[in-house]
Amino acid sequence: MTNVSEKSKLTTYGNIINGKIVQAKDGAVADSIDPSTGEVWAKIPSSKKEDAELVIQAARGAFEGWADLPARTRGDYMRKIGDMIPKYAAELLELETRNNGWVLDEYGYLAEVLKQVWYDAASAATLVGGQGRTVQMGAGDFGFTVRKPYGVVVGILPWNAPLFTFTIKAAYALAAGNTVVIKPAESGAVGSLRYGELISQILPPGVLNVISGSGREIGDYLVSHEEVNKVSLTGSKATAERITKATAHSPKSLIFELGGKSPNIVFEDANIEQAVHGLINGIFTPNSGQICVGGSRMLIQRSIYDEVIGRLKELMTDKEFVKHGNTLDSTNTMGPIANEAQFKSVCRYIDEASKDEYEVVFGGKYGGQEVLPGQPEFADGYWVQPTLVKVADNRTKLAREEIFGPVAVAIPFDTEEEAIQIANDTNFGLAAGVWTQNLGLAHRMIDKLQAGNVWVNTYARVGADLPFSGVKESGYGTDSILDYSQEKACVINIG
Ligand code: NAD
Repeated sequence: MTNVSEKSKLTTYGNIINGKIVQAKDGAVADSIDPSTGEVWAKIPSSKKEDAELVIQAARGAFEGWADLPARTRGDYMRKIGDMIPKYAAELLELETRNNGWVLDEYGYLAEVLKQVWYDAASAATLVGGQGRTVQMGAGDFGFTVRKPYGVVVGILPWNAPLFTFTIKAAYALAAGNTVVIKPAESGAVGSLRYGELISQILPPGVLNVISGSGREIGDYLVSHEEVNKVSLTGSKATAERITKATAHSPKSLIFELGGKSPNIVFEDANIEQAVHGLINGIFTPNSGQICVGGSRMLIQRSIYDEVIGRLKELMTDKEFVKHGNTLDSTNTMGPIANEAQFKSVCRYIDEASKDEYEVVFGGKYGGQEVLPGQPEFADGYWVQPTLVKVADNRTKLAREEIFGPVAVAIPFDTEEEAIQIANDTNFGLAAGVWTQNLGLAHRMIDKLQAGNVWVNTYARVGADLPFSGVKESGYGTDSILDYSQEKACVINIG
């Protein structure tokens, strides 16, 4: 087993403000905990309002110079950041793994995705400048539009995917000419602070800033500040509600990328083995279900229900297939829950699953001693077993609430219409998976499913090449260059 790296142990990371690494003014720090062991492994600034004010002023001060650069020059900066990623990928991915407990192997693809997003933003920077329109206004008036940046953008990150959400917010906002403040979640801040440091070495001071602190201490201050022009949150509906209220007195443009309760639907004509692996990757391995698009509702056609459940159980109880342990060891396949609060929340749902109205197919245990018996180094880690629960219908709490852990429900259905009805019977609308060989059925499902993303015979396929957003209570807006610039309407009287 690879030893957990000592390299970053108890390093104190700093905020990135105006191109410099700075601590909170009052010197306060918070612990960053390795979720696999429950041990403190790094320190991060615990910023207050006075630090938040500094970071906003840094972004505001840099705005005009950055926005006035030719789009091509901003694109050149984006490309340089993309070029930097492979050099630091190993370090960044290790920090991310220690932060949120996803097994390192999951991140093989991530460095490539981050690089591609920065390159995509580089190209988009020049394209967006050409997105203005000329408008026929009748004799005498010449109408046209130009695209302008908003100003200062605050990007608020969740703990589950900090580097990815950092990148899609910062890259497109910067490319469009905005300056940016990133606030990672406290339990996932280390990677973002280091990433911000590396990026700020490439950009002019103040163009990209990162501040670590709790939502309670600095969240409201950042989002409601009059000098902030746009806020993009990836997080929960509860936080979106708070931001909506906090910004009511100083309205600004908002992007909300929120949660989900996504259906992953298997029809009887599907390639069963492929579908079973799609169900597993959608919610269990390798990120322990801590992914917004998690396929937490498995809808399985009744004629193949027992067969699919049986195969799921066979794989998920195979100790070679599901291997918990050191998250930096790429032979392991599942990590812990990322932080204590989320661990407790997932455990409450597992307790709920043990009630009589449900049937637990596999899993149902939590805690380091239960999940990794005989491995005392993980005894205090936030471990839960992947858990599948049979439910009769879509009305139960387990089928309706976002659990955000490796806990899924299995629901049988008979017809295509019933599958659509159950799939759409949720307040969320982030993603859906469909497993079938029938092209017509696939297209009908794509048409009817109320979700921002639909995947057929694959799952969670996201990247720089497609937009990503939700419908219903999963949010609105997209981290894209068009959403980070706005059209200004102009008319010249030409007599
Ligand atoms: P969260 O809403 O608790 O926290 C998200 C961020 O908001 C954190 O940085 C937090 O500090 C900050 N915050 C809290 N209160 C704030 C306030 N009043 N003002 C401003 N910021 C505040 O979410 P989480 O627990 O970190 O992440 C899990 C949630 O994120 C899940 O619901 C998941 O589905 C969602 N998520 C969505 C996507 C997506 O792209 N749709 C991606 C990843 C995660």
